[in-house]
Amino acid sequence: MMNGAVTAAILESAIRNVPDFPKPGIQFKDITPVLGDARLFAGAVDLLIGPHANSGIDAVCGIDARGFIFAAAAAQKLGAAFIPIRKKGKLPFTTIEESYTLEYGEATMAIHADAVRPGARVLLLDDLLATGGTAAAATTLLTKMAAHIVEVGFLIELGFLQGRAKLPGLPVRSIITY
Ligand code: AMP
Repeated sequence: MMNGAVTAAILESAIRNVPDFPKPGIQFKDITPVLGDARLFAGAVDLLIGPHANSGIDAVCGIDARGFIFAAAAAQKLGAAFIPIRKKGKLPFTTIEESYTLEYGEATMAIHADAVRPGARVLLLDDLLATGGTAAAATTLLTKMAAHIVEVGFLIELGFLQGRAKLPGLPVRSIITY
């Protein structure tokens, strides 16, 4: 099976569940065993690209920090630009920002004001969809910049947290759902 296609089931068996990280009650989905295996990493990127290989994607946008890993690889494979959406205070140039509420407190995501051309066909990627707050803030930024969001893709979706509800009207696709 070593030379066969990498499937969602194969990736799922490689993802490591770490209980109580970074705090009690969280089941952290550790993707480093996927990244540490060249075949699995490439397979995960191929599955995230999915049907978009020849659909004229202009840019792949990744969410700070693990989203960068998959989005950068996908952008290279698609011959598209890579655009980082970062936590506030990290990007050096003029930014557009969007705040959202966390379980305790607030967070802010930022994008460079010149990162996206209006009408650009953008694929937005992150490693994991949990409550959806982070991805929703990222899509708001892209919408503010008049990007065309072709798809919001995740390697992992924690379905029981219903993060999709925070992304209404957007095409959302995940490879593995728990
Ligand atoms: P949320 O805004 O709740 O959808 O959280 C999504 C972000 O938090 C993603 O960027 C994930 O990398 C990270 N995250 C949330 N929950 C987990 C988890 N159980 N395991 C790994 N990463 C997580």
